[in-house]
Order: sequence, then structure tokens, then C-alpha cells
Amino acid sequence: MIDASVMQSVPGRKFRFACHKELPCFTRCCAGLDLMLTPYDIIRLKNRLHLSSGAFLDRYTTAYTDRISGLPLVKLKMHTDEMRRCPFVSPGGCVFYADRPGACRLYPLGRAASKIWKDHRVGEYYFMVKESHCLGWKEEKEWTIQEWLTDQGLDAYNTMNDSFMDITTGRPLKILKKFSNRQLQMYYMACYDPDAFRRFVFESSFMDRFDIAEEVLNRIHTDDIELMAFACRWLKFSLFGEMTLQIKHRLRA
Ligand code: SF4
Ligand code: SF4
Repeated sequence: MIDASVMQSVPGRKFRFACHKELPCFTRCCAGLDLMLTPYDIIRLKNRLHLSSGAFLDRYTTAYTDRISGLPLVKLKMHTDEMRRCPFVSPGGCVFYADRPGACRLYPLGRAASKIWKDHRVGEYYFMVKESHCLGWKEEKEWTIQEWLTDQGLDAYNTMNDSFMDITTGRPLKILKKFSNRQLQMYYMACYDPDAFRRFVFESSFMDRFDIAEEVLNRIHTDDIELMAFACRWLKFSLFGEMTLQIKHRLRA
């Protein structure tokens, strides 16, 4: 069982920490988690596992509803043993280390981010998650926050996660909570099931309804990252009426 954690701000944006196999707590943090996955986490993991997004979601995740917004979220399904170990942990560490989720990379830091609408930018705040089982805090290596983000390969994750966050952050809750089941299913598919979303774009009447540049179609046909960016545009259009997609002229007449 994971011990209670304490969250503290990062003094001077510097902290001392190191994680390595010689520590007796090694892999202790890979158990007893509620590990939420972002759309980018899912792309990285399903590609690493050579699975379709649908197969990955079925096999490794549980969908649940965010208590505040009512939007669907996805978390990694832990083993059902007493420790609730992560399915990807081995005695040697994370078997998919190079594609581990953003939250695993960031640990032992946490990040709170939100969109600042008036400046069109993301505001962020980092804090330390100090759990008593984690002995890395006793090590001497010192990091700035940016050094840690770079070392853990987080810059790409933060960029992708912020574009996902941009869909709904700052929207009035009364609008989010009024989404129909169909809209919620669309949100889930566009965010978390890119292979199904790709079929929706290429195999439904979608392309009869929207003007999409050939080069964009070529990119989203094969590139999951481009598809994710396109899914964000689609959700802003379909859920909030933003003009992020061009409707075909003959439909407007
Ligand atoms: S030092 Fe902390 S992060 Fe590293 S293995 Fe131990 S518990 Fe996990
Ligand atoms: S995905 Fe990897 S790093 Fe994250 S909890 Fe599982 S084993 Fe640990």
C-alpha cells in the first residue's frame, strides 16, 4: 500500500532527488495508483504495444467520469493483487520506460496547469509529491524544474497535454454538464480512441461535410499526433461551435 503523500511547493524551483535501481524502494511507486492517461499517453503506449487504440483501451484501461466536469476520463487498469501493481512494472523497472505516461515521468513532481484565456497561454504550477516510501528525496542530486522536465522527456508530453486541455479548460461547467450521451461518446472517441476517430473521419460522411486540405488528410491518415491535433479542432467545432473547421459550401447554401 502506498503511504500518504504531502504536496509542497518547490522552493526556488529547485529540489534534490534521484531514483535508481539500488534504492530499496525501487518500483514501489508503480503500485496502488490511480494513473490517469492522457490522449498522448495512449498514443505512445498503444503504438509501443503494437495494438489498436480500441484493443489497448479494452485490455489496459478503465473509463470513468470526472466528478466535476462530467467528462469521460481514462485510467490504467492495475493488477487486482493486494498491491494493485501496474501491469507494466517488472523487477527491472518499467518495461515500457521510453513510452511511460507523463505522470510517471513527472513524479515526484506534480503539475497543475490551466489556460489563461486573456493571454491565450497556459499557466502552470509545479509541486513536490513527498511520499514516505520514496527514498529518492534523501539523495543529493539537485535539479531545477526545467532540468527535470528535460531529463524526463516531458516537454513533448506537456505540449501535447496542453493542446488536449485547451478543448475544455475554462469553459463554464454548466455547458460541459449539459453534453448529451452522444456528445460524451464523441469526446471519448476523439480523445482516447484515435483509430476509431480516424475511421470516423475517413469512412463516414465526414469528408462530404467539411473542407479539409489534402495535405492535412494525408497527415492524419498515418500520423497519430496530427490526428490528435485534428481531433482537438473537431471537438472545439462540434461541442462549442468554434469555427475550427470549414464547412463545405454546398451544405451552407
Ligand atoms: S525513489 Fe521514489 S520514484 Fe524512485 S523507485 Fe523509489 S519510490 Fe519510486
Ligand atoms: S507505466 Fe511504468 S513507470 Fe508508470 S507506474 Fe507503470 S511501471 Fe511504473
